[in-house]
Amino acid sequence: MKSRIYLDHAATTPVSAAARAAVLAALELGGNPSSVHGGGRAANALLEGARDAVAGFAGVAAETIVFTSGGTEAIALAANGARLPGAERPRFLASATEHSAVLQAREDVQLLPVDGRGLIDLDALAARLATGPALVAVQAANNETGVIQPLADVAALVRAAGSLLLVDAVQAAGKRALPPIAADADFIALSAHKLGGPPGVGALIVQDPDSLIAVQRGGGQERGHRGGTPNVPGIAGFAAAVAQVHDWAAVTARRERLEAQLKAAGAIIHGESAPRLPGISSIGLPGVAASTQVMMLDLEGFMVSAGAACSSGKVKSSHVLAAMGLGPAAGEAIRVSLSPATTDGEIDAFVAAWLAMAARLSRKGAA
Ligand code: PLP
Repeated sequence: MKSRIYLDHAATTPVSAAARAAVLAALELGGNPSSVHGGGRAANALLEGARDAVAGFAGVAAETIVFTSGGTEAIALAANGARLPGAERPRFLASATEHSAVLQAREDVQLLPVDGRGLIDLDALAARLATGPALVAVQAANNETGVIQPLADVAALVRAAGSLLLVDAVQAAGKRALPPIAADADFIALSAHKLGGPPGVGALIVQDPDSLIAVQRGGGQERGHRGGTPNVPGIAGFAAAVAQVHDWAAVTARRERLEAQLKAAGAIIHGESAPRLPGISSIGLPGVAASTQVMMLDLEGFMVSAGAACSSGKVKSSHVLAAMGLGPAAGEAIRVSLSPATTDGEIDAFVAAWLAMAARLSRKGAA
């Protein structure tokens, strides 16, 4: 049987051994952290220890952490619960390359353009902010291209306009230092399953408790910001995952080696001239639909994704690449995403498979 090589770590990455052990230990412990008896107090101690760990990772105070069911819920909470001083619900501005978790969080979202590299247009942001305060959502790094946004510049404009900044750090967390991001943002969304924790758990960092009202009230857990019994095993796994340190410089070197070989054979790397995350590469093969590439590579044993996959598993043209002005090429790129565990041998095997695929398709095109 052909070996399967997983190069889709931006979609989700395997749960680390430490996170798995922490989840199992928490399941064994049981208990509801709201119960006043000994079992409840033990679960609560685990929960608060995990809160301290995630807060330390992000460089924020423990009481700013609101645990959620993942990145999407964290973003939805900020988008719908954010309040300006005076309790006014702000307008919602978002860069055009945000994840659908942001773009779908509110129907009245107003999009901010990006340039050809995928970087937010700061002049357009300033012009939009001049018309009144808003909640501005800008991702720390993009999930399809890995492009890193100039958050300090964004934050300066947002702050000067008396507005609020929501940073989706779901892809960047664990790969870039969070404390500088936390210094700039009012809200930060995190997700455990992108950094070695289990799926279905995340957090929203809320710098000022008065800037957020609950969307889901329930029993008033998470200091009234998010009702519902917290997922203590998942949260314990999240805390174990953030404690792990990886060699991301080695990942960057592998990605660069991969890109150089594919470019020499006609591939286009989208967002290449912008600062990028270590492990994500958006690779275009002109004239070939992303779905065809994903399927051909899958048949050869390589798991990669198209720019964007909707929940039905169908491949859509990428709104991220379209916003970067790529036209039809927005439907011709695959995303290859590496982890610190990805080996040189896996990269070499992928490069060989991609080159063989491109050669086959060009023979077909020429016939
Ligand atoms: N934001 C970004 C940039 C993402 O890549 C994802 C997941 O794909 C999310 C938000 C949503 O996170 P979750 O899967 O935890 O809901």
